[in-house]
Amino acid sequence: MLFDSHAHLEDERFDDDRDELIRGLPGRGVTHVVNVGSTLDTSRMSVDLAAMYPGIYAAVGIHPHEVSQMTYDDLNRIEDLAGNPKVAAIGEIGLDYYDLSPRELQRQWFSEQIELACRLKLPVIIHNRDAHADVLDILKSKKDKILGGIMHCYSGSWEMAKNFLDLGFYISLGGPVTFKNARKPVEVAKNVPLDRLLIETDSPYLAPVPYRGKRNDPGLVRLVAEKIAEIRGMDFDRIAKITSANTKRIFGIDS
Ligand SMILES: [Zn+2]
Ligand SMILES: [Zn+2]
Repeated sequence: MLFDSHAHLEDERFDDDRDELIRGLPGRGVTHVVNVGSTLDTSRMSVDLAAMYPGIYAAVGIHPHEVSQMTYDDLNRIEDLAGNPKVAAIGEIGLDYYDLSPRELQRQWFSEQIELACRLKLPVIIHNRDAHADVLDILKSKKDKILGGIMHCYSGSWEMAKNFLDLGFYISLGGPVTFKNARKPVEVAKNVPLDRLLIETDSPYLAPVPYRGKRNDPGLVRLVAEKIAEIRGMDFDRIAKITSANTKRIFGIDS
């Protein structure tokens, strides 16, 4: 029983086989998936998917790439969607200093969406690319009210990971831990406390080896778990069980 903590099954790359793929997941050992929104539209689609399939849960939020035109009206729509009982988190939100949106707006809407999560008592799913220091500063400034969350597809160093762990956050690893040149994710996989470790695919992106460059899907989260088991010298079954229990705990899922 594997839990993929982060996927985008509403992506058009799944349009031809989405239903078949989702129905086939339990047969491949994947019982649960959190489908994560990046825009208002994909957040809505995430909630719709969660309503259709028992093992799918949703996160709703606006990705830092998408905040250039964001308004308070959009924030209200996210809040409406979050009222659905299968919405497990606000996400994905954060900072991405590849700068598809102005940094000032990224910081503003990251902050606002964290505040929303605090009001709704939901955890947050954090997207962070080349913005570790600013993400950390913003999270620290809210640490008294934040319910906790996940550093998704964590790509930073183990040193930096400790700061997020100190704030009570979980660390989620994906396909990059299997890449040939992976150094930082392997270091993190080796050291992160077992009760704070999550796994994910970020499907359709970041497929693990040997599917690197192809379309990723939640069934391939098994390869991430296998790699982490190998790195830590542990049984695959134990990694599967522990990461699944951790994901349910942070998202408050009890089935
Ligand atoms: Zn992301
Ligand atoms: Zn994502």
